Amino acid sequence: MNPAGKPGKTGSLMPVEVALARLLEMADTSRIVERERLPLAQVQGRVLAEDLVSTLDLPPWPNSAMDGYALRLADWTGEPLVVSQKIFAGQAPDPLKPGTCARIFTGAPVPAGADCVEMQENAEVQPDERVRFTEAMVLGQNIRPQGQETTVGEVILPAGTRLGPIEQGLAASLGCAELDVIRKVRVAVLSTGDELIEPGQTLGPGQIYNSNRVLLCSWLQRLGCEVVDAGILPDDLGTTRTRLGELKDVDLILSTGGVSVGEADFLGIALREEGELALWKLAIKPGKPLTFGHFRGVPVIGLPGNPASTLVTFALLTRPYLLRRQGVREVEPLKVKVPAGFDWQKAGNRREYLRGRLENGRAIIYKNQSSGVLRSAAWADGLVEVLEDRTLVAGDSVYFIPLSEVLG
Ligand code: AMP
Ligand code: MG
Repeated sequence: MNPAGKPGKTGSLMPVEVALARLLEMADTSRIVERERLPLAQVQGRVLAEDLVSTLDLPPWPNSAMDGYALRLADWTGEPLVVSQKIFAGQAPDPLKPGTCARIFTGAPVPAGADCVEMQENAEVQPDERVRFTEAMVLGQNIRPQGQETTVGEVILPAGTRLGPIEQGLAASLGCAELDVIRKVRVAVLSTGDELIEPGQTLGPGQIYNSNRVLLCSWLQRLGCEVVDAGILPDDLGTTRTRLGELKDVDLILSTGGVSVGEADFLGIALREEGELALWKLAIKPGKPLTFGHFRGVPVIGLPGNPASTLVTFALLTRPYLLRRQGVREVEPLKVKVPAGFDWQKAGNRREYLRGRLENGRAIIYKNQSSGVLRSAAWADGLVEVLEDRTLVAGDSVYFIPLSEVLG
């Protein structure tokens, strides 16, 4: 059987989740396993290659959560206590002298013998410099116990975790200066279409500026991919074959345009001749035609060329595929359920991803949802999902996928 999966029956549309499941299956069979060791500051957006196991207890010793006084609760009889030492963060304290208290600051180690810290707001320094506590205290209060965050041997971040500022901070707290990450996915970006020219050139008759190229290249960089910018491909079979053949050392060829059933589907022809091709008609709007296949063994995803279609199919299908190639398990974006702030009268046979915003807790949508209109997405903060065969009235629940979930 064609490993890229069979196209849906003529006339029937493939549900988004089926297409995603197939893409993820393909990603699982071509997982990138090569790894590299990088300084911690450079791992942003990359995927952890092996479990990060704690070599420390965190915190390594009990420490104070407050500026105040450390004491042994049993020593507090109501009589003011002598302050026997002062402990700043970064110091190693002496054991607490019985019957005394220690001045202590946030983050400083709690001295042996102390079992409670009282905040300075509840302490009165007497004229003789002894300290009286004004409130009832309980055992262990304001002490962060040793190992409260993690203990030696615990898996703190599993392999396949995508690394960002928080994970970097966590790894730093364990003393990691470097991490093993999966090497970058190399993605070649191709724009197809005789009508395309690059910004900076003068627009001729029938021409439009190539917006998908920069959109995808910059998005892929945010995702931690290595981008091979393969430029514009004319609508011509010979050139398509030659240019695809030049893209050897890549993990994915990502092209836009030329996947509609139209005559100019040279990408499809080239794949059929020198690899394999699945042409999917997806139940997604904007979107619908999507190519998945291989050219001489290199996976190829062909997205529809209309900019909003490119955006939606990249966000919901290509991004998860690329993350899974690196071993990330949770690849789907978070969706939140919100009330619709609009009516939707005409039920469609495709699942719609409307470019929308949240306003006063309700999803509203851009006035023009044409797949050619990228401006809708610049206006939007997210995609509003309207399921197949559904109509809506304001107040009905819809899922909202924040663009911030998929852009990085
Ligand atoms: P296609 O899938 O090639 O039939 O293209 C569908 C629509 O998207 C056409 O209007 C194309 O002109 C437009 N389009 C295709 N590629 C791009 C691109 N890279 N940038 C902007 N528009 C594009
Ligand atoms: Mg085209």
